[in-house]
Amino acid sequence: MLGSRVAIRFAALLAVALVGASGTGARPVGFVCPRVDAACASACDAASPATLYTVGADELPSPGPSIDVRLRARLVVTTAWPDGPLAFDRAAARAYLARIVQTTDDAFAPCGVGLDLDRAEVLAVPARLLTIDGNAPDAWGGLAPPGVDADAFNYARGDRLPGPVRELFERARDGASRSAIAIVVVDDVYYHAAGKRTRAGGLSFPPLVYHHPDDFPLRNGVLVGTGYLRCGELPIALHPRVVAHELGHMLLDTAHHDADDANVMSPMLGPGLRPEQCARIRAAATTTYGPEPVVDPRAPRG
Ligand SMILES: [Zn+2]
Repeated sequence: MLGSRVAIRFAALLAVALVGASGTGARPVGFVCPRVDAACASACDAASPATLYTVGADELPSPGPSIDVRLRARLVVTTAWPDGPLAFDRAAARAYLARIVQTTDDAFAPCGVGLDLDRAEVLAVPARLLTIDGNAPDAWGGLAPPGVDADAFNYARGDRLPGPVRELFERARDGASRSAIAIVVVDDVYYHAAGKRTRAGGLSFPPLVYHHPDDFPLRNGVLVGTGYLRCGELPIALHPRVVAHELGHMLLDTAHHDADDANVMSPMLGPGLRPEQCARIRAAATTTYGPEPVVDPRAPRG
């Protein structure tokens, strides 16, 4: 038995090295990550993040001819390392990524807006990057004490993006256009506001709100939390409008929610967008997130 255990361990190490060095597009071959625990931590964590599959724009849905505004974006879906051979193949990864693109395009179609992805990928990440706190426990979540200007208050605080958020966005944005919005799917997302830690379906990190200068231009992305049934599987299918909702926060430049349950920007993630919302979404997609790199707002004026 000892001999076979040694052989298995050797095979596992070899496979991890292959995956770690595989770069983009290569199909990972049967590897094993010993010691996967309940939190999906495993011996493979030391070798990741690592790209499992890359899917090019030519393999993803593209908006129809009536769509005249394209929003630059990069899509990254994370998963934990599995405790056995990879549970999904490239076709399943492509289908999962394509569904996110298609449903987001469908949500923005009434505005004549569609995604313009240069690529999408599935990334194996260490357990510490699966459940993400979007801000620090003492953060104000963009709010301010009564009577205090929120922009000046938040700029003066100089809050950094938490390390895991920076790490994810840095990896997701690798080689992306500076105006492209990173869309990153993780297991779970939380945020802190007024001393409370709350679970969120997603969080947006608009580059235009006042922030620590060192977080620019990483701070141009959205996180979506959806959950996994098992370590190392593709996440559960996203709600068809959750990515559009988080992108909507960026494009509409607001943290507020719509009171109409039938609206994409309501907490109910309805299907509708009003003409004035579409006008603002189209304008932001062609100016702020258009051909020119998105600009750091620096210190608030006045
Ligand atoms: Zn929201």
